[in-house]
Amino acid sequence: MGTHKDWGTQTTLGGVVTLSGTGVHTGRPARVTLKPAGIDSGISFRRIDLSNGTRSTVVKVEPRSVKTMPLCSMIGNDDGVTVMTVEHILAALAGMGVDNVVIHINGPEVPVLDGSAREFVDAIDEVGVVYQAAARSFYRVLHPVRLQIGESVAEFQPHHRQVISTDIEFTHRNIGSQSISFEVGCDVFRDQIAGARTFGFLAQAEQLRAAGYGLGASLENTIVLGDDGVINDNGLRFDDEFVRHKALDACGDLALAGAPILGRFWSHRGGHQLNHAALNCLLNQQDAWEWVDGRDLETDTFSFNKVPVAVPELAYAT
Ligand SMILES: [Zn+2]
Repeated sequence: MGTHKDWGTQTTLGGVVTLSGTGVHTGRPARVTLKPAGIDSGISFRRIDLSNGTRSTVVKVEPRSVKTMPLCSMIGNDDGVTVMTVEHILAALAGMGVDNVVIHINGPEVPVLDGSAREFVDAIDEVGVVYQAAARSFYRVLHPVRLQIGESVAEFQPHHRQVISTDIEFTHRNIGSQSISFEVGCDVFRDQIAGARTFGFLAQAEQLRAAGYGLGASLENTIVLGDDGVINDNGLRFDDEFVRHKALDACGDLALAGAPILGRFWSHRGGHQLNHAALNCLLNQQDAWEWVDGRDLETDTFSFNKVPVAVPELAYAT
């Protein structure tokens, strides 16, 4: 159960773990290896398929790395080295409260696996989350910041916890209006959010492929909606799996801030572009947030999913 120390202390992974699959957009085989990383290093990707040479092969997860794309989240460094479809692995790390990790990746895209964050969460559980001897820093939202783009709205509000709330509205009869709210870093992420898969409409699949996206998409990694309903043999994992996935994506997109955000994020008809724009809006408005040290937070009411263990002798990766 959570204590003051748990909430405010930095974490990394207890070991090294590898996952392999396919990039949903490139259609190429993709492998990631998650490794423990040192205090204050945050989350970074290293493209092991590229030779170091004169350019850096490391892409750090931070606001300035974000390259917005319509269908996924991509990050890149100043040398033009990029990693795409980072949202589900980042959601898993943020949702499980992991601060410092180096991710070795053998190509331009993170594997999509089953289209959710479940396998990333299982991998994190396999090696465990361990505490490090340093306080966490949080962004704390001080006053509401709202952004509207067409019919889509996003807002950050002051809150003493990390909360994500999403509403969606689709005309497709299998979706309709759905909403969900959850607290980042608690068991509810693992149990209720991580397993929600990405979804798409059969009617748009051809268009998507013609534009060079979704080349690796299949019924193994995407809920596909036809005119008559869900095409996948086993149907849905949750009745409202669609909005849960939107919340999962928002969790991953907010992790691009490079540190946890203490506040409530709410979005209506959101997506990656709205999430990125809203995050920019918040961070650029310097009176709307402040840095807060984890040691200074009132936290005894938190219940956490991390098992407190002694910090082991870890070989930190770079
Ligand atoms: Zn997604």
